[in-house]
Amino acid sequence: MVGGGQLARMTHEAGIPLGIRFKLLSDTPQDSAAQVVSDVVIGDYRDLDTLREFARGCDVITFDHEHVPTEHLRALEADGIPVRPGPDALVHAQDKGVMRARLDAIGVPCPRHRIVTDPADVAAFAAEGLAAGAALEGGGHEGPSGKGGGGRRAGGFPVVLKTVRGGYDGKGVWVVDSAEEAADPFRAGVPVLAEEKVDYVRELAANVVRSPHGQAVAYPVVESQQVGGVCDTVIAPAPGLDGALALRAEELALRIAKELDVVGHLAVELFEIRHADGSPGVLVNELAMRPHNSGHWSMDGAITSQFANHVRAVLDLPLGDPRPRAGWTVMVNVLGGDYPDMYSAYLHCMARDPQLKIHMYGKDVKPGRKVGHVNTYGDDLDDVLERARHAAGYLRGTITE
Ligand code: ADP
Repeated sequence: MVGGGQLARMTHEAGIPLGIRFKLLSDTPQDSAAQVVSDVVIGDYRDLDTLREFARGCDVITFDHEHVPTEHLRALEADGIPVRPGPDALVHAQDKGVMRARLDAIGVPCPRHRIVTDPADVAAFAAEGLAAGAALEGGGHEGPSGKGGGGRRAGGFPVVLKTVRGGYDGKGVWVVDSAEEAADPFRAGVPVLAEEKVDYVRELAANVVRSPHGQAVAYPVVESQQVGGVCDTVIAPAPGLDGALALRAEELALRIAKELDVVGHLAVELFEIRHADGSPGVLVNELAMRPHNSGHWSMDGAITSQFANHVRAVLDLPLGDPRPRAGWTVMVNVLGGDYPDMYSAYLHCMARDPQLKIHMYGKDVKPGRKVGHVNTYGDDLDDVLERARHAAGYLRGTITE
């Protein structure tokens, strides 16, 4: 596996009962997975020679991030090493411009978007949206309706700007109210994608896993709540989600996995919206081709976790059952707080809730950094949510009793 973060650590954990020998290419020996994997190579995944040397003797290569250069992946394939997901699939998770173009081509609903060249072009993009909206019957302004809005703006500002490569956890995303505010994203010299700012009801995620011979499974669609651009809470399944929409979202994710020939785990981040007639719909925000934060609940809440199924898919083994074990599972991320010794909080958390599942990543505690997550489950959503939030807050130090 390339990448030494917590996703690699948890993937390794899932491979242990299957007796899978796991080799890791990690940036540093302190990385989350490097602490627990015995066969670790420390090196730079951007260096082809390092990758080639690492890959020698591996049956298959997979990743815990999307940043390995596409041309290096092609070189590994040319050397005869299976790369899963392969470069032709992975490029859609590496480059938001490529992803949007492909999703347009296969008819997947996305926010209105286009690549923009400079701040003046951002203003033009905003104006195009207004013009397109005005041309629609009834003015085209699908104003907010239902709880919390969810309507689609016809155009104008604000506009969302994203660097097409290299962003994560909201870094590389700007919301701008005018062309004057739009200078920053262009400074990096990376192409910039402009998108309408969707006035969504909430964020959802559809997680699916697909194997090389085409077997695929879908996890229930979850609600994903972000704080400051970082995933905070995931509720499985998404409460109150229209049944037909849930099915459509699962089918959409399975279709994307098939069309893009994804092997392994695919997370499709979605915006739930309300159409002008009040009916619910979804737009695709992002794709991730690896286990994903919106699937962490499955470690304790599903019959087969996303990590176990990613391992199975990468090895072309039959996939496991993705169905939930409980009515509700809630995952809350544990972010680093002001005091570094989280272990001292274990006594209270474990004593308060014997059903609580704590997953810590062995990372140094820094304010705001994802250092672990907790999972709780049960039949009463309010109770499950309270228990998860209490535990995560206590571990972080924002709750003290
Ligand atoms: P990253 O690659 O950093 O995860 P995303 O594209 O997922 O970036 O965007 C991060 C967050 O910004 C999203 O979870 C969402 O809350 C918000 N966001 C992104 N695109 C839009 C959009 N077009 N309209 C409204 N909010 C958006």
